[in-house]
Amino acid sequence: MSLHFDPVAIFDAHILSEQEKKDYFQSLRDRNKYKIQKSIEAIDKNKELLVDAYWKLYYDIQDDNKDQIRNYGKQHRAWEDKICQLCGSKLKYIDYGGYSPFWGCLNYKDGSGKHTTVSDREPTLYLDIKKAVSWLTNITIDNGFKGTIRATELYNFYMDSGFEDIRLFYAGNSSEKYLNIYRDVKKNSNSYERKCYDDLKQKHDTVLFQLGIRYESEHTGGKSRYCFLDLLASDKDRVYIYECKTNDHDTNDTQRNLYCSVMYYLLHVHQDERDLSFEYLIQKPYDPNSPFIK
Ligand SMILES: [Zn+2]
Repeated sequence: MSLHFDPVAIFDAHILSEQEKKDYFQSLRDRNKYKIQKSIEAIDKNKELLVDAYWKLYYDIQDDNKDQIRNYGKQHRAWEDKICQLCGSKLKYIDYGGYSPFWGCLNYKDGSGKHTTVSDREPTLYLDIKKAVSWLTNITIDNGFKGTIRATELYNFYMDSGFEDIRLFYAGNSSEKYLNIYRDVKKNSNSYERKCYDDLKQKHDTVLFQLGIRYESEHTGGKSRYCFLDLLASDKDRVYIYECKTNDHDTNDTQRNLYCSVMYYLLHVHQDERDLSFEYLIQKPYDPNSPFIK
């Protein structure tokens, strides 16, 4: 059985020592700290503009939905008082059987306009909330702060200044939760990797967790890049690359091609003749019955 993939030319590869790995992650954290700092500075310099941008978006969303809101107001009043919003007559409960019952004005044929009909059930307000859901991103992009101001710092700025969460206000779920989702996904995938590591230890002679590799390839323009293999297992005659993914959509050929090429390079350099395998470990495999995947 041989492994099929599109090879990438590797010019150099080197497995990171624990110290090199630590240094690399520290440099990532420093870079992240730097980005947060930049983001806070940019917010600080543009406070007034960001406040204006907030209100502009807030009213834009109301404007987009003014017909829905007006109509909902009327429908709700009619439903509560059982009074026609056109002629003021009392509404009559109508149940034909087979249709859902409703309240209607008996003057509906008099030609003076649209008399009220309202459902038996309490009316619901449906809003166009696309802009509200991604309000933080919209504000950064619309005002030229893409890449400078980050959603998390912007959110903190608005909350600290006493503004309402636009997403919570219009869409009913908090932005904070949404900002935290990414953190949870990361945490979750780490614990899944741990679990896979424990499972694989039962199957293979050795298993390495998060193997760091510095490499240079035809695509890195003469510079070193880093990659981290989730799990690398090996037996007497085969080496296995295992990549953990949350679901099938996350698999990607570019990564697979790179990891296989780098690993072949390393085996070759060490005159290791073992075969190589590559396998994805999927946490939530595709479920055709899932309502969320269409
Ligand atoms: Zn009427």
